[in-house]
Amino acid sequence: MPDSRVTGGLWMSEHPILQVAVVGSGPSGFYAAAALAGSQTPCRIDIFERLPSPYGLIRAGVAPDHQTTKSIQDVFGETARHPAVRFIGNVEIGRDISLADLRGAYDAVVLASGVPEDAPLGIAGADLPGVHGAAAFVGWYNGHPDFSGLAPDLAGRSAVILGNGNVALDVARILSRTEEELAASDIADHAAEALARSGLMHINVMGRRGPGEAKFTNVELQEIGTLQGATALADARQIPEDLPDGLPPRDRRMRAKNLDCFRRFAQSDPGAPGRRIRFGFFARPIAILGTGRVEAVRFARAEQDPLFRSAPDEFDIPADIVIASIGYRARPFSGLPLAEGERALANDDGRIEDGLYVVGWLKRGPSGKIATNRLDGDAIAERIVAECTASGAPGFSALAERLADKGVRASNFDHWLRMDAAEIAAARGPAPRRKFTTIADMLRAGGVA
Ligand code: NAP
Repeated sequence: MPDSRVTGGLWMSEHPILQVAVVGSGPSGFYAAAALAGSQTPCRIDIFERLPSPYGLIRAGVAPDHQTTKSIQDVFGETARHPAVRFIGNVEIGRDISLADLRGAYDAVVLASGVPEDAPLGIAGADLPGVHGAAAFVGWYNGHPDFSGLAPDLAGRSAVILGNGNVALDVARILSRTEEELAASDIADHAAEALARSGLMHINVMGRRGPGEAKFTNVELQEIGTLQGATALADARQIPEDLPDGLPPRDRRMRAKNLDCFRRFAQSDPGAPGRRIRFGFFARPIAILGTGRVEAVRFARAEQDPLFRSAPDEFDIPADIVIASIGYRARPFSGLPLAEGERALANDDGRIEDGLYVVGWLKRGPSGKIATNRLDGDAIAERIVAECTASGAPGFSALAERLADKGVRASNFDHWLRMDAAEIAAARGPAPRRKFTTIADMLRAGGVA
């Protein structure tokens, strides 16, 4: 006779089952939950999320015109429906429940809350009005409730985007797409309206290193060359003939394709009608200039720039808005030590302390694809079932009353399904949904009591 069996959708057991809390409902949280739910060890997995809605960066980070990428949320939705998994939204660990209380209620806690802060630019003028971090700007166009009120001023002619990663490309693309191109996206209403009125014609994407070192992935870079209302430009003199020796073959292939792309951009007609997305390299930002608000960015030219001897060492690019897309930093969390230049929590291959684990960007820093989190999830589930024992911990039942006493209105997956259905029903034209952008609207639509 087995000790435990699945009945009526719940693990029933003569012995206690492993109670696991996952903090954060983005890709890394869902992959960890799926791996635990699929393990041979009977588990109950509660996914805590500070917003009423699930899916983290899939909903609020992946660009609104990349709907195919967002469709991974259907897979996560299946995990949320698994009988051993429960979604508990609108509850913030560290605010509504302390990490110590959470750990007291569960056998294991997995931190999967990402690294949500913009890395600081750390140069003079970085706090001038008109300078935004990418986390805030991306959150704004994706309708994240924290950033719905950002109201970036897009009335000027020139934007400077700092950084050569995929987030910089997302921002450049969203600033450049036509209204028609965005019609089938789930961009937030406030952003669609602001972008339709945008005066921005010059989008400068600036890297501190060369075109061969850019972190753009090639599919995303090529997409920039296909925009209906914008021309991608580069300076042929900054593009090297070849790449340095010693690169791993896969990396080398991608970088070589990027150089081909930049060579094509260098042949574009700079006088073509519409917006211009200009890629500039070897330019380290040293100051944001302006009186009262941003007016320009000052750059120092790197010695590696083929233009180094023939052009000024320092130069300014006019900017009515600056988006610093230079990576993310972890938010201090319940006194846990940070590592990796504050890009992650200190951990030993996912383990922080007995019973406390970390996955995703918070484990390894903000890099990798969505699918990278799957490996993290599988590995941590294996570790948890090997290292933790079911102690008879009470799980959520120990916390529910305390949350209710504090007036916290937790949402569940059924609430989310109601919010989701309301967003889909409100969609206009080819858009897949019309997003709620405030927590109050989400709770109302979900019927969260
Ligand atoms: P990222 O790939 O790490 O790129 C950050 C960029 O900022 C780099 O070019 C870096 O230059 C530059 N930078 C850092 N500090 C700087 C400074 N002080 N001044 C000027 N430049 C500076 O980060 P990300 O773009 O935020 O992307 C995060 C992760 O999400 C990446 O793994 C990315 O591929 C992924 N992502 C993927 C997609 C997609 O697949 N469609 C979309 C969005 C994001 P150095 O190289 O010189 O350090």
